[in-house]
Amino acid sequence: MRRPVIAGNWKMYKLVNESVEYVQAFKALVVQSIHCDIVIAPTFTALKAVCSKLEGSNIAVSSQDVAAEPGFGAFTGEVSAEMVRDAGAGYAILGHSERRQYYGETDGSVNRKLLSAMGAGLVPIVCVGESLTERDSGQAQTVVERQLSGSLANLTPERASRIIIAYEPVWAIGTGRTATPEIAQQMHAFIRSRLKAMFGEEVAQSVRILYGGSVKPENITSLMDELDIDGALVGGSSLDPVSFSNIVNYRDRR
Ligand code: PEP
Repeated sequence: MRRPVIAGNWKMYKLVNESVEYVQAFKALVVQSIHCDIVIAPTFTALKAVCSKLEGSNIAVSSQDVAAEPGFGAFTGEVSAEMVRDAGAGYAILGHSERRQYYGETDGSVNRKLLSAMGAGLVPIVCVGESLTERDSGQAQTVVERQLSGSLANLTPERASRIIIAYEPVWAIGTGRTATPEIAQQMHAFIRSRLKAMFGEEVAQSVRILYGGSVKPENITSLMDELDIDGALVGGSSLDPVSFSNIVNYRDRR
């Protein structure tokens, strides 16, 4: 049995005081939610304050990126995985489509970031997913396969078993257009088959694969009913504590 993960990506939203107010309200709403791992990803500037407020709670914290370079060095503007860990976070979102689209992230850079994150003891949440043009031209699986083999290069099976994958079709992110549970399940099963080819059956069965793309309280339950959907990476609907707690508590909505 894979333990579900519900993760919220706040993107470039919320000042420090707003982030702290959010987690104070959110903590109470999910205090009894022991059925899944709960993760929130604030901005870098709010990481430390949010981690301090969540110490000892059932909510973990993620960064939205890390530097490819490990440790310390002359890399102006970058924040290393060690620094994220030092702030108290346990996870790092890597290769989000917005970073691939606007900041030149490639499978090669995602791979370097992945190795740095794991070296610092962070659990990477590696994002993959095709654009609408790629889907419409029948390239969805080819694209995701290429992203997986590039982003997950040089990983031992032992390390691979600890990562989390997020399948986020670009056409569903922030568009209000969710993939149907069937479309998502089909790609999740494909991703698991690729993990099996790369790392073996045991690893493939243990890696959690999250769906991301316009997940809301109204559609989370049908997505979670699918065999290979092990959780969600949520953008817009994670910005409000009540809405996000309704997603975390998806089992109450049955
Ligand atoms: C995301 O940012 O990872 C995401 C899936 O966004 P949204 O839920 O707003 O589509």
